Amino acid sequence: MFDYLEEQLEKKFKLYKLWEFSEQKEEFLKENSSLIRAVVGNTSIGASSELIDSLPKLEIVSSFSVGLDKIDLKKCKEKGIKVSNTPDVLTDDVADLAIALILTTLRKICESDRYVRSGLWKNGDFKLSTKFTGKSVGIVGLGRIGTAIAKRAEAFNCTISYFSRSEKPCTGYKYYSNILELTTNCQILVVACPLTEDTHHIVNRKVIDTLGPEGVIINIGRGAHIDEPELVLALVEGRLGGAGLDVYENEPDVPETLFGLDNVVLVPHIGSDTWETSKAMADLVIGNLDAHFSNQPLLSPSGSGRAGGSVYPSNREYSHEQPYH
Ligand code: NAP
Repeated sequence: MFDYLEEQLEKKFKLYKLWEFSEQKEEFLKENSSLIRAVVGNTSIGASSELIDSLPKLEIVSSFSVGLDKIDLKKCKEKGIKVSNTPDVLTDDVADLAIALILTTLRKICESDRYVRSGLWKNGDFKLSTKFTGKSVGIVGLGRIGTAIAKRAEAFNCTISYFSRSEKPCTGYKYYSNILELTTNCQILVVACPLTEDTHHIVNRKVIDTLGPEGVIINIGRGAHIDEPELVLALVEGRLGGAGLDVYENEPDVPETLFGLDNVVLVPHIGSDTWETSKAMADLVIGNLDAHFSNQPLLSPSGSGRAGGSVYPSNREYSHEQPYH
């Protein structure tokens, strides 16, 4: 829990810190479940079916994240529980990180940093790296973050193409109606869509092999977008050129094989983790709770904005209650 959010929640509400009761969760829930009207979740813990069922008075789940893959949206809908997330305020940071991962992977920034620190420079110059400017970038999910990544990549004279559920003609970027066509036509693949049933393992062996030994995958979406064992195998076997990863299938566990590979850059799910954005996200979490408990429209109900934070089952099936204000 982000300190500032915790402080604000404690100021305004009676805060129960479920994470302090991991050993005695059941007892804690038995004692307090009839008092809890809101759940605040994040990218790692949301509101599972089990948690929702154990909180009969639950009215709202306010998530400190855009992604809602840790919340059982179907159950929330069935029970009339509202759901909010934190879109838009984090878009720039996540897009910045995607570009940073592209640059650090292609230009071998982490590897060359290790080279200097270990004193190896004295033995000779560092190896050549790969140019970013002018490359073709394919984006999976041209939503808020995907579009912000595209804008930034345009400044590097990159050709932009994308795969989304629907074409966005006004962007002027080339649309492919499936991911294989996209990967056939790009050098750098950036995954920026929500995790749903449809996008689970959307990057599989076939997609990886289509990108090939010169191709690079950047994942700032969710770990389960990629079949991780297949990714690791392709990197080890040289069937894929490189990867820049912010997210993993079983966070915080990262496949140890990756630690020994110089063609990967690994960061610990820090897409939106700046002070500025974390505060803005926390304020939005509180703003949504305040709005709910004063019978006002939520500031950012899930599904607000262009395409909607979404989750299992397919986000199209989840109709959202209010427009974004
Ligand atoms: P968004 O505005 O809702 O955009 C999502 C995009 O994904 C839309 O273009 C949507 O397409 C597309 N999409 C949805 N389902 C798809 C499918 N089955 N196949 C292909 N494309 C699909 O969301 P956002 O704000 O950009 O956030 C995107 C995701 O980034 C979040 O859900 C979260 O998982 C991840 N994220 C990660 C971090 C991090 O720290 N690494 C931080 C924030 C968010 P249509 O427009 O055609 O429907």
